Formats: sequence, C-alpha cells, structure tokens
Amino acid sequence: MAGGGELRAALGRHPARGTYLSKDFLIAAYREMVAAGELREDPALAERLRMKPVRTLSGVATVSVLTRPYPCPGTCIFCPDDSRMPKSYIADEPGALRASQNAFDPFRQVASRLSSLESVGHPTGKVELLILGGTWNAYPKDYREEFVRRCLDALSGEESATLPEAQQKNEHAARRNVGLVVETRPDHIRPEELLHLRKLGVTKLQVGVQSLDDRILALNCRGHTVADTRNAFRLMRAAGFKIQAHWMPNLLGATPESDREDFARLFDDPDLRPDELKIYPTILVENSKLHAYFQRGEYRPYPYEALLELIAAIKPVIPPYCRVNRLARDIPVRHVVAGNKRSNLREDAQRLMATRGARCRCIRCREVRGLHVARGDLRREDLAYGAGGGEERFLSFVTAENRLAGYLRLWLPGAQSSVLPWPDLERAAIVRDVHVYGQTLPLGGNQEGAAQHLGLGTELLANAERIAREAGFPRLAVISAIGTRDYYRNRGFEDGELYLVKRLN
Ligand code: SF4
Ligand SMILES: [Zn+2]
Repeated sequence: MAGGGELRAALGRHPARGTYLSKDFLIAAYREMVAAGELREDPALAERLRMKPVRTLSGVATVSVLTRPYPCPGTCIFCPDDSRMPKSYIADEPGALRASQNAFDPFRQVASRLSSLESVGHPTGKVELLILGGTWNAYPKDYREEFVRRCLDALSGEESATLPEAQQKNEHAARRNVGLVVETRPDHIRPEELLHLRKLGVTKLQVGVQSLDDRILALNCRGHTVADTRNAFRLMRAAGFKIQAHWMPNLLGATPESDREDFARLFDDPDLRPDELKIYPTILVENSKLHAYFQRGEYRPYPYEALLELIAAIKPVIPPYCRVNRLARDIPVRHVVAGNKRSNLREDAQRLMATRGARCRCIRCREVRGLHVARGDLRREDLAYGAGGGEERFLSFVTAENRLAGYLRLWLPGAQSSVLPWPDLERAAIVRDVHVYGQTLPLGGNQEGAAQHLGLGTELLANAERIAREAGFPRLAVISAIGTRDYYRNRGFEDGELYLVKRLN
C-alpha cells in the first residue's frame, strides 16, 4: 500500500503523532493532505480507511429516516407499541434513536446521517432513502409530500417551496436520490395509492406479507387476507415497483413445519415471487398484545435450535432473483421477553447449511461486493420466470464463480396481468430495476475494475430492449428515482409523466 506508507510518513509530521487515531480523524487527515498536495490521491487507501466499507459496497449509501409517531390502521398482536415511536418501532432501536434526537424532522435526520457517513469517509453522491415507520399510506397526504420534499432538500442542501421544485433540484445535485423506499400493508396498495407513490418518486415498496395462511393472519389480527397480498403484488408489479416482502416465522398458531410450507408459497405462487425479502422471526416484546398470550401459556417462541433449523431449511429455497436483505430485527436484547436473543442468526444458519452442503443462492450471498472484476471475466445470464400474469426476466452478469456483478429486472406483462390505465405504461414492457455493484464513488470519481464502470448497466438495458422488442412490445418504460433520470435520458429514454419511456421500433 504505497499510499499507506506516505500517509504514515505524513502523519509523522502531524502534531497528533503517538496518540490513538480514530478512523474519522485519519480520513479527515487524508483529505487535508491530498488537498494540500502532501499526499497522492489513492482510492485503495481511502477504501481501507472507511469504517464499514460494506455499507456502501452495493454502490449506494442508504439513509433511513423515521416518520413521526402516528396511529397505524393495523392491530397486529406481535407489533410493539411505543407511544414515542411510529408503530412497530422501539425507542432505542438503531435509527429510532437518531430520529427522536432530531424530533422526527426529515431534513435533520437526513442531514445528520449524511454527516456521519461522510465523517467516516463514505461517498454520499448516490443515496437510497428508506422511509420507515408504521404504514406510510395511513399518514395524511400533506405530511407525506412534505416529508419527501424535506428529505430531498436535505440531500440537495437547499430548501424548496414545493415537492416538484425539490425533485427538480435534486436531479442534478451533488448528492442524488437514486432510490426511495416506503413501508406499507397489502390492503393499502390500490391504484390511486400507487399513482401517488410514483408522483413522490418512490421506486421500491416494503410490504408486510407476514404469512400466506388466512388462519394465521386472522389469529394474529393482521386485518387482511392472502388474497389482498396477491392482489397487492400484481398491482405493484404492474406499476413497475421493486417489491420487498416481509415474512414472519413463529407467529401465533404457526409451527416450524407450517412455516416451511408457508415460505415455499412465497416463490411457488407466480402472483408473489418478491424481489427482496426480510425474514423477521417473531420477537416477543412486553409492549405487544402477544405478550398476554405468552403469559396465558398460549404462545411459545421456538427454541433457538428449531429456529436455526427452519432458517437453514428455507434459505436454499430462495431463487437467485431474490435478495435476502435481513434475517431478524435489530431489537435491543433487553426488550426480548423470550425467544431468540442471538444477533448472528444469519451466520449460524450459513454454518449449519455448509455442514450439509446446502447454499443460499440469493442475490446478497452472490454479490461481487468489493471484488474487482474485468468485463472479460463476466458471462451473461437470463433467468425467466412467470410472475403477475406475465414474465419476469432477470438479466445478470456473473463471474466464473457465480458472483453477481450487476442485474436488471424486466417485466413483460401478459394477457392475464393487472393493467394500470396510465399512458406511460400503455403497451410497455417495464424495467423495474437496474443494479450494478461497486463502491459508491464521488460523482466524477473513477475506480478501475469497479463493476459500475464497465458499462454493464448500458449492456443490460440494451438486452432488455431487444427482449422486449422481440416479445412484441412497442415501448419500454423504466421506473426511475429522481437522481437516475439523466442516466436513462442519456440512453435514449424520454420523460413521460411518471416513468421514462423509450420507443422500440
Ligand atoms: S401494520 Fe405493521 S406497523 Fe401496523 S400494527 Fe401491523 S405490524 Fe405494526
Ligand atoms: Zn442469501
């Protein structure tokens, strides 16, 4: 590490020599020295100095913000109830603390998260905003619009009078929004709601599936049915959103066997088949209605071994087009009345699977992450599967070791698909996601070998166009975040009302 030696030598001239140096100090020193010409710019060194490089290795910095405390239409018995928090969050969970310290103000939450990411050396040019808390659509419409406006303003670093103005400013800002995610319930997904989400610039929906058994849904007072979930998925897909499902084993009334069957339905049913997944084993907390069932002896959390066996059995079922984003909620252990208190369920499950020769093929387990890749080492893959009455195509680039360098999700609606009467989507195939890996780079930065710079995105789009054209679609629509519109314009897409659209003939 040539730069490391230089940094050491340069620090030797620094007054703080001999004391313990924190990473943020080192990064600040590195930047100062580069600016002063004392040190050569060295991306490899900068990467090593970053505190937790994995946070931005997927190419994008994630910023989570919580909405203010507000009643949720749900009455789910497992859901924590903390009047200081939006429904389902606990005051001292990571992220929740920062939200309350900033009085749930979206601008302050985003600004404080950005400054902590930047202080430890993470580039923040591309930001995915994750809006968490209760059920998004249940909040007043004005509040939702104001919330998104202020998040975007915090990214752009200036105040706007209206949401469209904030969106326009962010399109070319130094810190751009490249993904906007909200959480909701299946029975709140209706065409008019999806239209509003698109106007806000939302690109991904986290939706609480929890179970695919009407009996279990009813026992846990979810307030919706499996039919609602299937209908929600069809509509979300028809609108091109990326779909992240939350699924919960160990609900009231479930057994490890019923959970295995339930999980298989997520991918067997062509109306479901989510793009991403959070597996949240039910956590028994005191301030939930489930606690009373536990006290009456009507509910028991699975012993850890049973939970581990279950996770090790379901992970190999996950198809390669799906990403498991989380396995267990980050609830501080002191709130867990009974049940799993271990935070490394994922690692334990991977180890158990390895002893059985089983592997998880999900996106997360195959991402190239920080690996440097050359275009010549990559091969193209095209995975087709039925979904939402049409066909999904998961186009990807993988290494010889089957590591994923980038992918695109293309949906070809079919005769049985739900149709949204929106002009942008008329007779259009839809690109729902384009993702190419590589450490997030400052805008204008370059890093040899990073998958983002091999032109994979352009190639994936060209393939999607060809497939859509051959399937008889005259148009290709893409769901785009505010900050990625230029990327598509530069590749021949034109602004529609809610999507960018390209004519194919
Ligand atoms: S819908 Fe979600 S936030 Fe609302 S009560 Fe149910 S689990 Fe909690
Ligand atoms: Zn996996």
